[in-house]
Amino acid sequence: MRRTSKERLTEKLACFGRFGADERGGITRLSLSPAALEACGEFRRRCECLGLAVRCDDMGNIYAVKRGTEDLPGPAMGSHADSVVNGGNYDGMLGVLAALEVLETMVLDGISTRRPVSAVIWTNEEGVRFPPAMMSSGVLTGKFDKAAVLDVRDADGVSFGEALSAAGRQGDKAARLGPESCTAYLELHIEQGPVLYESGESIGVVQGVVGMCNYTVSVFGRAGHAGSTPMPRRRDALYAAAGIIRRLHDDLGSIAGGPLFTFGHIECRPNMHTIIPEEVSFSLDARHRDPDVVRRVVEVITSLPKESDGCRVEYREEWARRSTLFDPALTALVKRNADALGYAGRFMFSGPGHDAQYVQDMLPAAMIFVPSIGGLSHCPDEKTSLDDCRNGTDVLLNTVLELADT
Ligand SMILES: [Zn+2]
Repeated sequence: MRRTSKERLTEKLACFGRFGADERGGITRLSLSPAALEACGEFRRRCECLGLAVRCDDMGNIYAVKRGTEDLPGPAMGSHADSVVNGGNYDGMLGVLAALEVLETMVLDGISTRRPVSAVIWTNEEGVRFPPAMMSSGVLTGKFDKAAVLDVRDADGVSFGEALSAAGRQGDKAARLGPESCTAYLELHIEQGPVLYESGESIGVVQGVVGMCNYTVSVFGRAGHAGSTPMPRRRDALYAAAGIIRRLHDDLGSIAGGPLFTFGHIECRPNMHTIIPEEVSFSLDARHRDPDVVRRVVEVITSLPKESDGCRVEYREEWARRSTLFDPALTALVKRNADALGYAGRFMFSGPGHDAQYVQDMLPAAMIFVPSIGGLSHCPDEKTSLDDCRNGTDVLLNTVLELADT
């Protein structure tokens, strides 16, 4: 079995962790921001120093290719270089640097393969500056319309297309990752949850990404003076919403299979301490790997009463995502390599979404998870031990080498 270098990986994480380091001790590296462009520039510079060909497709995705001995399609690996606001340095970036470390190991150890091996940086995975998330892999796999996403604007009115052009990242459509150039896609990523950390295992072999649905529930009451409206006469939208959230919590919590659900965003209008709330909207995000469980969730939401505590109740589906199953032969190969390296691991599902799940629609794809200390992610305390980072990268290296020689 081949090994990557923990020292080199440590240096890469420290170097790239400077791009977007914010004053609150975290990373703010929004897509196509100066910090993200610096990180991508450093990636490109390092790849060119290794003698790799670097190119960019029309969605700004960056590819570094180590040629094979034959002109054939080959495996690719990668992740994203953008972050959320005040996030950590491991989400996405670890997968990018692991892919770089694999290519560097191949170059420095003189490993040649029959097929080429590529590293990819996906543009705008987080979707924080330009929604939706996983925008570029979504365009490549036909989920989103390219013209529509180029027109999506950030808070300053800059469109995604303008940001791509300004960054010089509107490359060649022919460079896109696809079945003509690529045989399989592997993404190493932090788990972003507590399972591996608590079990003490180093490697999660991801079998798929759970399905989810996302709703907005709105409650309409009547505004009135807080000092003069008698309690029995009130139609308080916030009070009604509290009852509905409680009821949804109980009903969703009793669904067999145990979906995960979150009421993460709430808006109250007019949101003044002297005025009875007139309108309240809240979000409901629910996830489960079994489509039947997600269907049960939808049944609970769609059977909400039209009226509650004197207030009108409406719900609206914002979006939904079906469960993705990764390629079983590829996940088995990842597990075999983890076992051969002597790294403890398990099969598992991902709750968060990743570019790999869209790629699976056009190519065999799989993901390697490494533990998140304390299960934390999307925050400055997001961290993975350097041993686990290296172990995951070793699994990536050996899996990719096997794919590149078949
Ligand atoms: Zn990520």
